[in-house]
Amino acid sequence: MIYLDNNATTAIDPEVARLVAEELLVGPSNPSSQHAIGRQANERLDDAIQRIGRALGCDLLQPGGERFVLTSGGTESNNLALMGLSSAEAPLIVSAVEHPSVLSVAEYAKQCGRTVEFLSVDSRGIVRLDELAERVDALKSTEAAPVVAVMSANNETGVIQPIPEVSAICRQAGAMLHVDATQTVGKLDISMDWYGADSISFAAHKFHGPPGVGGLLLGAGVSLRPLLHGGEQQLLSRPGTEPVALAVGMAKALEIAIDGLDQTQEYIAGLRDGLENGLLGQCPELVVHGRGAERLPGTSCISFPGADRQNMLMALDMASIACSSGSACSSGSSPPSHVLTAMGCEKSVIEAAIRFGFSRFSTIEDVQPAVERICRVYSRLRF
Ligand code: PLP
Repeated sequence: MIYLDNNATTAIDPEVARLVAEELLVGPSNPSSQHAIGRQANERLDDAIQRIGRALGCDLLQPGGERFVLTSGGTESNNLALMGLSSAEAPLIVSAVEHPSVLSVAEYAKQCGRTVEFLSVDSRGIVRLDELAERVDALKSTEAAPVVAVMSANNETGVIQPIPEVSAICRQAGAMLHVDATQTVGKLDISMDWYGADSISFAAHKFHGPPGVGGLLLGAGVSLRPLLHGGEQQLLSRPGTEPVALAVGMAKALEIAIDGLDQTQEYIAGLRDGLENGLLGQCPELVVHGRGAERLPGTSCISFPGADRQNMLMALDMASIACSSGSACSSGSSPPSHVLTAMGCEKSVIEAAIRFGFSRFSTIEDVQPAVERICRVYSRLRF
């Protein structure tokens, strides 16, 4: 099988898996327990969290500085940010191309009576900054600071958003900014400084870390209302016994990803370009989405005009190519991509879109066979 679905999830790095297994085998590990075993677990958790902070350019030991909340992944971090930054009545402005873990929270908040606005994007998938400025300005006088959510890079197209500009607009209007960086952390060089965000979310399984763990990094002085209620862990932001082994694994995976970032970016951009150029060479009618914008190096969203994406996916699976038709959460039922819809693509183009994602575990030897198989499947299925 040629695995080209690394935006859905990545294989755990064997070095990370070994570390997680070792940590699990240490014995009982509740960082809140008051005995020596608990204190040792707490030290290992603290160490892992500080290393995660360092890898993201923050010193989490600095009093009054940034703060980290350990979560179960991107979905939980996004829920926590949208529901917990600012007050329960605060207006929300979310971009139309966000992941379902943001959009569904916004829909839910709307049902609960909150003011919710959706920010449109241009044909490349980039948020309209003039519209954002107008919207935050109009909400300036509301009692609670509005919360804006704009993702750093899109999970379907890889298109990178101008977060520093988004952040400047939010700052000026006194709005809070949450950045869903689930597709970016471990893939691009980011830091809280660079983003100027109030919170950023991420998940370890996107950068060869263990599944089931992620984080929400909070800017200095940002407070958060919890979603869950229970014990006093994580300064009451997220109760529940922390999974020390997963935190240790996430720290290691992030360090490995950040250490090799430049080489990885160049390597996977080369693989992605090889795939796109190979496919376009044989089928010039293909549409590569977001090509005119800055994109994540390993992501490619391509429409195969005249083919149906579901049929393509099934046939590609039979041809031993693993890829997807958008976010993995939706590909079971596979409604047409809301991202391509927001970009103004025609229905026929949206119906024919497939997402490919590379990682540092992808090999150059996979590219040419993938091109051949994809072209063969396409020529069979197009009408
Ligand atoms: N946000 C984005 C941009 C994603 O791509 C994903 C997963 O695909 C998520 C959030 C949800 O992350 P998780 O599956 O870790 O909950």
